[in-house]
Amino acid sequence: MSACTVWELILAVAAIVATVFAYRYKSLANRMKTRARIYIKYVPSGELTGEERVIFEDLKETVARLLSSIWTGQVPPFILPVLTFFPEEPAMFGPGEYVPDPTEGIVDVKDLPAPQLGFYSRNHQQTSCPRCGQLASRHTSDQRTLHDLGDLSTGRPVDLLVTYSSHYCSTCRKHFNIDLSDLAPPGSHYTHRVIDLAVRVVVEDSVPYRPASWHLWRDHRVFVPFGTIQNWVEAGGKKGARAHGRRVSGVGA
Ligand SMILES: [Zn+2]
Repeated sequence: MSACTVWELILAVAAIVATVFAYRYKSLANRMKTRARIYIKYVPSGELTGEERVIFEDLKETVARLLSSIWTGQVPPFILPVLTFFPEEPAMFGPGEYVPDPTEGIVDVKDLPAPQLGFYSRNHQQTSCPRCGQLASRHTSDQRTLHDLGDLSTGRPVDLLVTYSSHYCSTCRKHFNIDLSDLAPPGSHYTHRVIDLAVRVVVEDSVPYRPASWHLWRDHRVFVPFGTIQNWVEAGGKKGARAHGRRVSGVGA
């Protein structure tokens, strides 16, 4: 036999051996199914069930046989990369694994993640007087914090720091603040977006106030005490569906 034929033979044997081992690992992994990953990560060998133990021992035996055959020189060592087939298989893992919200169980509001600040300015030199409609000059400016919908990518709430101007109408001889009613109701600490969403969760989905409060935090990262949500819903019921008369969506009456 020439050296070339010997190498061809060795390669052919190696390919067959590799295929056999790949098939064996694949079938083992299939038997272990999705729990394969859980074993590797979490389950100590002492806690395996009977059937799982059989599969586990089988696997250990296969690996031991493979290693000893390499040791004794019966199998050319270059089939070793075949082993990489196995770790791939249990990694097949569909979505749907339950992962609790990282803030679950926090009882003190102060322990929640700190808010990110968003800046908004409505600080004009002049604006029209709400009584007489004449232009009124700014005499000072101030700031107001509005809790907005949070940032889901960072898991942190968002506070809108609104700078607004205060004006004096020389005709009416009255002070007034620039109109912010499109952002939030007068005196409110929350934006319309938050209030609308909270009321929708309660009215449309019939979620009680406490779970609605948790829902707003968990899924929208805005903390609203449940009593505040209750106030909004009850105020809306008295004043009618749209107290502030804005309409964003075109659905419904
Ligand atoms: Zn005026």
